[in-house]
Amino acid sequence: MSSRRPRHILVAGSGIAGLYTALELRRTRAAEVTLITKGDLRQSNTWFAQGGIAAVFPQEDRVADSPASHGADTLAAGAGHCDAAAVRVLCEEAGEHVERLLQLGTCFDRAADGGLALGREAAHSAERILHVNGDATGAGIADPLIAAVLTDPGITVLEHTFLADLVTRDGTVTGAVVIRSGGSTELAADAVVLATGGAGQLFEQNTNPSVATADGLVVAWRAGAVVKDLEFFQFHPTALDVPGHPLISEAVRGDGAVLRDQSGHRFMTDYHLAAELAPRDVVSRSITLHLKKRGEQCVYLDATALGGGFLAGRFPTLDGLTRAHGFDWAREPLPVVPAAHYWMGGIHTDLWGRTSVPGLYAVGEAACTGVHGANRLASNSLLEGLVFGARSAAAIVADHGPWPEFGSTALRIAAGGREPAERHRIQQLMSEHAAVIRDSAGLEVAAKQLTQWRAGGDTVEERETANVLLASHLLVQAAAARDESRGAHYRADFPGADAAVVALHSYRMAQ
Ligand SMILES: Cc1cc2nc3c(=O)[nH]c(=O)nc-3n(C[C@H](O)[C@H](O)[C@H](O)COP(=O)(O)OP(=O)(O)OC[C@H]3O[C@@H](n4cnc5c(N)ncnc54)[C@H](O)[C@@H]3O)c2cc1C
Repeated sequence: MSSRRPRHILVAGSGIAGLYTALELRRTRAAEVTLITKGDLRQSNTWFAQGGIAAVFPQEDRVADSPASHGADTLAAGAGHCDAAAVRVLCEEAGEHVERLLQLGTCFDRAADGGLALGREAAHSAERILHVNGDATGAGIADPLIAAVLTDPGITVLEHTFLADLVTRDGTVTGAVVIRSGGSTELAADAVVLATGGAGQLFEQNTNPSVATADGLVVAWRAGAVVKDLEFFQFHPTALDVPGHPLISEAVRGDGAVLRDQSGHRFMTDYHLAAELAPRDVVSRSITLHLKKRGEQCVYLDATALGGGFLAGRFPTLDGLTRAHGFDWAREPLPVVPAAHYWMGGIHTDLWGRTSVPGLYAVGEAACTGVHGANRLASNSLLEGLVFGARSAAAIVADHGPWPEFGSTALRIAAGGREPAERHRIQQLMSEHAAVIRDSAGLEVAAKQLTQWRAGGDTVEERETANVLLASHLLVQAAAARDESRGAHYRADFPGADAAVVALHSYRMAQ
């Protein structure tokens, strides 16, 4: 592999990870890039990100904070399951990429003194969260990246182009099969980067846009790539209980909003000393338990004490969004539910984005470097896309020596069943048995039902459903294999963490 000098790189995905990787590849002028995305360029989890991006970087007159402290917070949130080297890389290299975003035109919010405004979020021990227009950080970062990609003559952008499969020769990835204008075409490449994002669509209630159907994970899996930590799926505690489940940022609770049940009782104080500001997994779990106990469908986020003026000024996007759904959150509590939000697991990569399959790289939410462990620290995933996107670009151009070895444990996917799979039924099943609270009986029910379904077909929608089905199989098996509770993976039949099974779980397709 050491003589490999890729010239033409295919990047799949137009979120922060794909856009930034493409731009970093072009910085060297040693690569030409084709960037494909299945919707239009703005359709991504990235574009919907609200709260911000975490980064410690040198800035004059700022309070003491350090990459080491950011790393310690990341490790603590990860519940003993983070890859410490990945965390170090993430936190130490954050600053240079924030500088680059500024150069590319991201207008982070400023403090009164003109310096960058730094916010604080739950489980961060310092003020280190940058944001754009209060709660529109994803769009504020993505739009300048999109503009830069569109004006780079070495980047060919293909929207509405669906990555259907990878092409391999002698075990090395040499391109991809894409669906475009209803037909399938093969695109040759010296390397392929999967920046295809997450998989919220595995669950009925989720905060992700419709494009998040685990496509990258599934094509990588089919090509023999090792996947990792699939049992860890983060559920955000407060999604508005309306179709599409838009997220109500944690920052609203950070600023003083509280959670109530239907009777008006502020129940989080019954579950955790930190109440609404307990870690994300704890709040999601407490809400789920409380709803089960009371037989209710949603809880209520009460932000009325914050006042209409404050809410509109601090959260302009959310203010518009809640009003568009007919709520006046200055006067009435909002109905909210936990919703699938971010997949910590993904395609196993090293610290340079390399997967276990030569020629195949993965970055961003599709990848699993181990940086988030069992529970992602808020505002670390936009950062992940930058840091590991830049690293994978550097590795592709420089060719970092022999391809790494990845350890793995076999997972088996039973051959397809007879019943045609419907996406909403898979989502319902996953929400019932493999979501916030799991146990072996429920996971068994889910596994059995999943094997009875068959998905296939040539349209993009049919392929997405097949990907959702296969990814659900993998997640359920991974969750059944981890007999402990850790971070976002909570097993009601194993409520305590078991140190003996902290070892990294990674999986390869059984031969
Ligand atoms: C509502 C919401 C709020 C969030 N808030 C924050 C926050 O404040 N801070 C933070 O750090 N993180 C936040 N996150 C998480 C963060 O936004 C994501 O983890 C991150 O943006 C992922 O970036 P990505 O580039 O890896 O993937 P994405 O941004 O999801 O992009 C994936 C891209 O791949 C494309 N794609 C997928 N499948 C295919 C295919 N088969 N063929 C072609 N293209 C394909 C998609 O269309 C999309 O363009 C939030 C997420 C959501 C949903």
